[in-house]
Amino acid sequence: MKIKKGDTVLIIAGDDRGKTGKVLKVFSEKNRAIVEGVNFIKRHTRQTQRAQKGGIIEKEAPVHVSNLMLYCPKCSSPTKVAHRVLAGEEGGKPNKVRICRKCGEIV
Ligand SMILES: [Zn+2]
Repeated sequence: MKIKKGDTVLIIAGDDRGKTGKVLKVFSEKNRAIVEGVNFIKRHTRQTQRAQKGGIIEKEAPVHVSNLMLYCPKCSSPTKVAHRVLAGEEGGKPNKVRICRKCGEIV
């Protein structure tokens, strides 16, 4: 997966094209991610004995990662990432980071 939780992404397809948002959750096996404020769906909730009132709630639906591009906060534009392995280790694994191909900033 190229997208991680907490990333800022640009939506490049669909109704929300051009919006940016923060990744709230990633479903790596489905290649989908929930992006804050993007792809809202209306969902009817049923009134139950336990829950409060029934009604319509709006909720973000997962977006396929092919519709997302990582957004670099440094150059304020969508970017492709490169990977770089830093010296040293982190938690016993090679310290691999993603860097912006344009400005070289770690994203
Ligand atoms: Zn950049």
